[in-house]
Amino acid sequence: MLIDGKKIANEIQAEIEKKVAQIEGRKPGLAFILVGENPASQSYVRSKRKACASVGIVSIVHELPSSISQSDLIKQIDQLNRNPEVDGILVQLPLPPHIEEQSVTAAIDPAKDVDGFHPVNVGKMLIGDESGFLPCTPHGIKILLEKSKIRVDGKHVVILGRSNIVGKPLAAILMQKKPHCNATVTIAHSQSEHLQALTRSADILVAAIGRPLFVKKEMVKQGATVIDVGINRLPDGKLVGDVDFQSVSETAGHITPVPGGIGPMTIAMLLQNTLWSFLKLLVLLFVMVSCTKSPPKDPCTHFEGVAMTIPYALTVGKKLSSKEQTSIAELIDATFKEVHETFDNWNPNSEISRLNQAPKNTLIPLSPSLQDLLSLCSQIVTLSGGRFDPTVAPLEQVWRTSKNPSAEELQTACDALGWNHISIHNGIFKKDSAETRLDLCAISKGLCIDWIVERLQKLGYTDLMVEWGGEFRAIGHHPANRDWVVLIDPGLKVKNQSMAPLPLRNCAMATSGYTPLIDPLTASPIEKTKYSIASATVIAPTCALADALATAARLFHNRKEAESWAQEVVDLYPDVKFWILSYRNE
Ligand code: NDP
Repeated sequence: MLIDGKKIANEIQAEIEKKVAQIEGRKPGLAFILVGENPASQSYVRSKRKACASVGIVSIVHELPSSISQSDLIKQIDQLNRNPEVDGILVQLPLPPHIEEQSVTAAIDPAKDVDGFHPVNVGKMLIGDESGFLPCTPHGIKILLEKSKIRVDGKHVVILGRSNIVGKPLAAILMQKKPHCNATVTIAHSQSEHLQALTRSADILVAAIGRPLFVKKEMVKQGATVIDVGINRLPDGKLVGDVDFQSVSETAGHITPVPGGIGPMTIAMLLQNTLWSFLKLLVLLFVMVSCTKSPPKDPCTHFEGVAMTIPYALTVGKKLSSKEQTSIAELIDATFKEVHETFDNWNPNSEISRLNQAPKNTLIPLSPSLQDLLSLCSQIVTLSGGRFDPTVAPLEQVWRTSKNPSAEELQTACDALGWNHISIHNGIFKKDSAETRLDLCAISKGLCIDWIVERLQKLGYTDLMVEWGGEFRAIGHHPANRDWVVLIDPGLKVKNQSMAPLPLRNCAMATSGYTPLIDPLTASPIEKTKYSIASATVIAPTCALADALATAARLFHNRKEAESWAQEVVDLYPDVKFWILSYRNE
């Protein structure tokens, strides 16, 4: 069976494209350094830049003469290390013989080393520390095996080739004590004896030697998976791998083609690392603007910044000392970090990502905060009759990838859909389908705002308002002894009334609007008609509740149905208010 690396890479790129499109302001940036005029290197850089452009990543290339000295090359790298618009640096290999590759690789800031070759990232990979970057080709192989549902755990993986960019790191990744790893790995090279006996013992055989069509049928065990990393050009110009595809595909259970196998996965991982580098920088570098920026008579203290690509603002209803400002800035910083590390699907190392990657029926202890949030999700799933459903992510991905998905694709996504696949007992999480994935973004933004407000309240701050990405929570009063006020678009097409002031008194407000949604009950996108819901705004005691209810309201197919459900919710929770607009607001 053919493993379609191109298709899987395209799906990953579509996810990246969607995320990049959501970033307001500066987009992720990747800088290439190309030394000399090696046609193969030029062609690799061209295709990587094309992929960057297709997902919205900004790329630049520094073309340097092959005569450049090592120290001048390192100076160029150093400038890119300090350039805040550059999130990733890739020095295209090979370099001319007078330049030491290892010194050049080590000159790249490890935080921008999206190729994953810096010794710091190599060390992290080896000890299983997920805060570094994994090298793109081996990481792409791991993801390809995982997405193709090829079991690696406990299997014998034989890797032909011991280079620093493919063989060695792949062995390090696949032997980790982690889901989709746990392999028994053998590395073979040009000095290995009894090569055929070794390759025939492989459940998974990876060829990365740069020898065209080297692996023949008799070297492969019946039913084994064969991953062909090689890229070789024959004298007639044809591109082939290290595996004799024609003959080996008669024996192999699964096999990757060349082209269309590992190549596209390598590029997808490069884009992912670049986006990941950008997001990490944003999380770490909150831009705190203190009250010195406020007008002199402003009685409040303001904090502004960007977290996980979304701007936030906090207003505290009094003047604060610089010591107080610093401690609040640290509190905000720590809270966003916690959210990023717990609920952020875009962080492959977050707690939620680990649940999503887990095999079925694995028992996983939850952190108290994730346990609380999943318990709130469970209540909203029930309250909304299954419309609000954080397990809808795989189905959303199917619809994002294709406007007309096949019945088979839909069925696979639907098999993983539904809160009934999740169980939580005494803080232990389990899912009965490996494919079930949770996406908490329709509720976690609200929760983050709640955390900031409640943590500040505990420190004795009584009057404040927080906004993050159009969601608000306010407590107490403005110092002018009035309610906190937000301006909202009431959807009324009346001259001079495009924005209306809405007072917020000890409550939160969230809006869900305009972006397309998938209805988990029908497994299809909500059709846009004049009666369908354009936006739903909810006022509730907490922002997580407001956030989730606003999304749930938008999952009804028309305003009448949504309002009738909203009334039922208000009967149960009198503190909640809905404001639902259809495209043709009557
Ligand atoms: P290297 O030349 O750095 O390493 C080749 C490895 O293969 C060496 O360890 C070498 O052994 C071993 N080897 C060579 N001949 C034999 C043989 N007859 N039997 C057993 N082992 C052998 O290559 P790379 O790892 O950089 O690349 C390997 C291939 O993968 C190339 O075709 C390259 O183009 C391709 N590639 C593809 C990528 C993609 O994105 N798809 C990315 C990176 C590479 P020894 O150490 O003893 O010399």
